[in-house]
Amino acid sequence: TLNGSSESEPLHDKLLGGLLKPGFDEGSCVSRYTQSLLCRKPSPYKPSPYLVSNLRSYEKLHKRCGPGTKAYKKATKNLDHDHDDDENQVRSSYKACRYVVWVATDYGLGNRMISLVSLFLYALLTERIMLIDQRKDISDLFCEPFPDTSWLLPLDFPLMDHIGSYYKEHSRCYGNMLKNHAINSTTVPPLHLYLHLIHDYRNLDKMFFCEENQAFIKNVPWLFVKSNLYFAPSLWLIPSFQTKLIKLFPQRDTVFHHLSRYLFHPTNQVWGMVTSIYNANLSKVDEVLGLQIRVFSTPSGYLQHVMDQVVSCTQRENLLPKTPRVKAVLVASLHPEYSDELRNVFSERRGEIIEVYQPSGERVQQTDEKLHDQKALAEIYLLSLADKLVTSRRSTFGYVAHGLGGLKPWILYKPDKSAPPDPPCVRALSMEPCFIRAPLRGCQAKTIKTTRFVRRCEDWNPGIKLV
Ligand code: GDP
Repeated sequence: TLNGSSESEPLHDKLLGGLLKPGFDEGSCVSRYTQSLLCRKPSPYKPSPYLVSNLRSYEKLHKRCGPGTKAYKKATKNLDHDHDDDENQVRSSYKACRYVVWVATDYGLGNRMISLVSLFLYALLTERIMLIDQRKDISDLFCEPFPDTSWLLPLDFPLMDHIGSYYKEHSRCYGNMLKNHAINSTTVPPLHLYLHLIHDYRNLDKMFFCEENQAFIKNVPWLFVKSNLYFAPSLWLIPSFQTKLIKLFPQRDTVFHHLSRYLFHPTNQVWGMVTSIYNANLSKVDEVLGLQIRVFSTPSGYLQHVMDQVVSCTQRENLLPKTPRVKAVLVASLHPEYSDELRNVFSERRGEIIEVYQPSGERVQQTDEKLHDQKALAEIYLLSLADKLVTSRRSTFGYVAHGLGGLKPWILYKPDKSAPPDPPCVRALSMEPCFIRAPLRGCQAKTIKTTRFVRRCEDWNPGIKLV
């Protein structure tokens, strides 16, 4: 069963193969060092020594430039004045510290987590530190990931009242500035810029992924980003990032797996939910099948089609084999009907014990309701502990679960209005999330066609994923 850390556990496993730094206070964030002590097998994917040393360097940089430091004070001075006499002096202090701020949006938890991982990868590649807009419930969900400092953007940050209203039409938006010819390669870089990396972004916003635009953006000390996308795959297609990426991740499809396990440590409240559900329902069985059922609309008859589809996927792919003997099916869905019905279907199987368990059935998405979001995170974690996982297509909730778990899921195809699809599901090529709105035209068009780094997603053809 799950309990606190155990001294007998090899330190290396406790630190996820060197991903984590020892020395944090354990009690304030129990999940940090006990995640690997769950009954899950240790991850077969080891972080590269280069990734580990980069994380340690990142932590030093964050500690030096983070909130409360001299460098931070200097960097925030006069940031709210556009044209200041001091600008050069302020700019010189940026030489050492540059920042990228994750600005909170209204999108769901999965959307938030995939964009955080992408942005952190960008921060590692560009030697910026990443700060988080804390005005949503992020600190009710996650512990501080970086030692002796904070990833939370202080509430008295000079531009705090502005960053929430940044959008693609804003005068500070990079794509908009390109559109208005307000910047070109000879312009003196501004002190701050807003990057719009949300699914509705325009071709000019997508110029972010071009080499020469990165050369310009590099010299902007403060970047503010709103995103709900897993844009890591397109960072691999920027030539100047490639060499470092290949060294960081010799196994390309482990980017999300390693970085999510490095960044996300559920708070004690969330971890309490995970461990109590795990101990009560999953710890004693031989095998757990996770089922994530996300339906984006519910025309009549749909429930039954999805149900039939799930059953046919588990049968066809032999996901509930005769051995091992005792199995549990963990269902995550907003709709409690699924586990009720699946309990009936699965219990009809001969001589087998299959427990069907659904931790919650919230019915509707209630993002930013603290308890709702905590339950969602707990379920993402529980799914990630499964031995095998079936997920719904195009769901970032499912992407996070399989990425964290290091699992290649079986993805349920989109059900037809009138019948379950045939085949019902497909095995994923890799455990990476899909970048569902990757820029396919523009500067990366040629590379996408020829590269071996990415493939079209199984669940969404215009999307790309690392393989
Ligand atoms: P996506 O919309 O499937 O890409 O995933 P998101 O996580 O971004 O947004 C969906 C939100 O709806 C989640 O964050 C939860 O708040 C809620 N939700 C969706 N499915 C589930 C589920 O299976 N369990 C729980 N507890 N919440 C869910």
